[in-house]
Amino acid sequence: MKPFTYVRPADARAAIAAAGEGGASFLAGGTTLVDLMRLEVMTPSAVVDLSPLPLTQIERAGDGVRIGAMARNSAVATHPLVVERYPLLAQALLAGASQQVRNMATVGGNLLQRTRCPYFRDVGVACNKRAPGSGCSALDGYTRSHAILGTSESCIATHPSDMCVALAALEASVRIAGPDGERAIAFADFHRLPGDTPHLDTTLGAGELITAVDLPAEGFADHYAYLKVRDRTSYAFALVSVAAALRMTGETIVEARLALGGVAHKPWRDPSAEALLQDQPATRESFQRAAEHVLRDAQGFGHNTFKIELAKRAIVRALSDAAGREATR
Ligand code: SF4
Repeated sequence: MKPFTYVRPADARAAIAAAGEGGASFLAGGTTLVDLMRLEVMTPSAVVDLSPLPLTQIERAGDGVRIGAMARNSAVATHPLVVERYPLLAQALLAGASQQVRNMATVGGNLLQRTRCPYFRDVGVACNKRAPGSGCSALDGYTRSHAILGTSESCIATHPSDMCVALAALEASVRIAGPDGERAIAFADFHRLPGDTPHLDTTLGAGELITAVDLPAEGFADHYAYLKVRDRTSYAFALVSVAAALRMTGETIVEARLALGGVAHKPWRDPSAEALLQDQPATRESFQRAAEHVLRDAQGFGHNTFKIELAKRAIVRALSDAAGREATR
């Protein structure tokens, strides 16, 4: 591990000031950053420890709920407000990592997870995300875990989070504090596709700090499902995951939300596929039509081409589960 300066700020203002000096990284739960520093994939000159900041609240905010950026994943997954109003989020969180990791990992850190592409974590090979302009070793490598949607010639990595897939479906927003004040970013605009700048995972600016995630009033607590398909039944990243949320009247879909994980550089949402489900009967035929539409432009890279059919089947199953499920309150 390369030497670095450890900073323990008194408040958010001091944290932002410390990060604004360049070359610094925020430290939350440490479940990603410390690993990557040991591997020398990330070599910050300073580490700004956010643990003194009072950002662990989970509370009502207007018609919705606000979750502080330093709230632990395990605390969020079991909080009564989340379990009752946003069970899709609780289910996604509990599908991620292990209990020990969830006890340390934070909401803000989860949003900023780096890809699990093995070439990104190996400093001995080319990777445009780690070293811009060096090339992409995955394109001629082993691609089982890689993306099938929204890829570029520069990068075909996936975003590893489960939580973020649910937050995309719920249309959360991310609250930010930075050198120029506070702002909110709609979840769909928070993560980037790789394009020709795959080293940029998000739309955060220099020195900007995530302070909270806001959940809107509608939690789809009556009809939801988070389906995660993976090589092991626990402590494994998704090959494909689906967050499905429906608002229904009888057997008719009034509103549909669908987000996919494990298939793209960001949680993948397709509003045109969701529109295909609106005012349709909750049948396998409706779900199949939406699934085909979501994957219409998918491209495989050999080892991961199976994900195209897998994603279609996962969408149909998640939507079927959502339509048939009554929330446990
Ligand atoms: Fe790096 Fe992206 Fe290529 Fe993986 S897919 S080697 S993260 S550039």
